[in-house]
Amino acid sequence: MAELVLSPKLLEPEGVYLCPVCRHGQIAPMVLMDTYACNFCRHILSIDLTHQTARLEDTAMVFRWQWTGTTWRSLNTPPVTLTYTAIVLGVLLITLPPGLVWLGQQMFPPLSGDRWHWFPLFWVGLTFFAHAVLVLRIFAGLAPVQPLFGRDRHR
Ligand SMILES: [Zn+2]
Repeated sequence: MAELVLSPKLLEPEGVYLCPVCRHGQIAPMVLMDTYACNFCRHILSIDLTHQTARLEDTAMVFRWQWTGTTWRSLNTPPVTLTYTAIVLGVLLITLPPGLVWLGQQMFPPLSGDRWHWFPLFWVGLTFFAHAVLVLRIFAGLAPVQPLFGRDRHR
């Protein structure tokens, strides 16, 4: 069996690649066919080597993916960009929940001498951290990705 491609490369006719459908199995060329098949989910795909795209062939719906050099990017949803509205919503999502927890701690402070008196402030910090990680993870997915093929092609 051919080696699974992991370093950035263009799609090749005899290559074996991660399946864009299930992202678990590997797609490989089918014998005597111009299509590829996944060894896990059994879907059949056609590969456009010129445009470096894959298209699902065994369904009536159109599902397409773009090869980025190492993985597949879906072409089924329009690319989402980072807008000022998204940034404002992100800041609100990071600050509002811990602010509500902090407000609760201020309105109903723990009893003096209670050995769990530190817990509300710890919970504020944990809420802030969890929401910050969530929002930054989403924004990292929306950040523009550097094009792969311009810099590797002339090596
Ligand atoms: Zn698959």
